[in-house]
Amino acid sequence: MTQAILPGTGATGQQATLGVMGGGQLGRMFVQAAQTMGYFTAVLDPDPASPAGLVSHYHVQTDYLDEQGLAQMMQRCAAITTEFENVPAPALLTLGAHRPVAPGADVVAIAQDRLREKAHFVRCGVPVAPFAAIRTAEQLAAVGDELLPGILKTARLGYDGKGQIAVGTRAELAQAWASLKEVPCVLEKRLALAMECSVIVARGWDGDVVHFPPQRNLHRGGILAVTEVFESNLPESSVKQSIEATVSIVNELQYVGVLCVEFFLLADGSLVVNEMAPRPHNSGHYTLDACDQSQFDLQVRTLAGLPLTPPRQHSPAIMLNLLGDLWCGADGQPRVPDWGGVLALPGAHLHLYGKLQARKGRKMGHLTLTGATVEAVRSSALQAAALLGIEPF
Ligand code: ADP
Ligand code: MG
Repeated sequence: MTQAILPGTGATGQQATLGVMGGGQLGRMFVQAAQTMGYFTAVLDPDPASPAGLVSHYHVQTDYLDEQGLAQMMQRCAAITTEFENVPAPALLTLGAHRPVAPGADVVAIAQDRLREKAHFVRCGVPVAPFAAIRTAEQLAAVGDELLPGILKTARLGYDGKGQIAVGTRAELAQAWASLKEVPCVLEKRLALAMECSVIVARGWDGDVVHFPPQRNLHRGGILAVTEVFESNLPESSVKQSIEATVSIVNELQYVGVLCVEFFLLADGSLVVNEMAPRPHNSGHYTLDACDQSQFDLQVRTLAGLPLTPPRQHSPAIMLNLLGDLWCGADGQPRVPDWGGVLALPGAHLHLYGKLQARKGRKMGHLTLTGATVEAVRSSALQAAALLGIEPF
């Protein structure tokens, strides 16, 4: 892209419009950041009640590959981004032929496939968990015993622990692959994790890279539950290594946009890369309230070709994910979480995504606690967890 897409009213009296493929909560927060800066927004998502569609100037309600829907996006938008990695690559290719699209179809296609993603990490010299590709019965039979116990993951379309099966023996492995309909998979050795962390970077059209501090993440049942970000949340060596690895991963891809890389920290202090997301990430939601620019601000800036300046965290933060489970009482009856109690806590920032139906495991919102000290933030976060019925951490 040669010229920045400037916000606000242009010389012709028209507002520039930025587009996003996908209308989930990530799209919603992108739309809100873009609108704050003075852009109009367009969302493509088939769901009439999609969280981003509900707050966008324009909502194109078609399938991702619908020609007319894509044509409408191209007509409306000066540039287009994506909020989830499973937007079909052909849709991004079509859009990219006519408009700046970031991230591009080719890099999204790599992130859509665990096997291609791992090959990229290996190319960058970043260690991955021991693994084997399983595309054929021969590959299944040839799996080495050193990969067991392991986790069998579908190469494509997995998220929040879906498309994954823990396997202890070869018989379980064969059974698991059959139950996944023998789609291409990766078998990963199950590692003993000391901690998990992630790093979010933004890279502009001109190759400028800025990043947030590494986040420490706690997953429960394969879903992110808690993110903690403050000084000394992680060993110093892991902070440095995870940032260096992320920067090399984003640069090697010639990536444009916001990218998140997830890591495992092992007991011996070594760091292993897990996966990447070609978009803002759940573990970066605290940036909305604890940093002078959020990950969504950076998504807007990278897409529009605006200058990137390093974001600064101004407050320690703990984020709690608010899953649909919280809307279900111990008696199994629907309930409303105690927002009154939560909002009485100092430094509580409530974000609900406007989803109409709460289901177990569904991401309904998040709560970020900020404060002057780590102790104050931890105290508020633990009180919030107790009020909401979230297990302490
Ligand atoms: P998703 O796409 O669903 O986020 P991940 O591969 O990140 O899938 O796995 C989800 C979670 O499962 C991880 O954050 C981690 O807690 C656990 N996990 C995944 N792979 C391994 C592994 N090889 N060893 C130990 N734990 C793992
Ligand atoms: Mg993950």
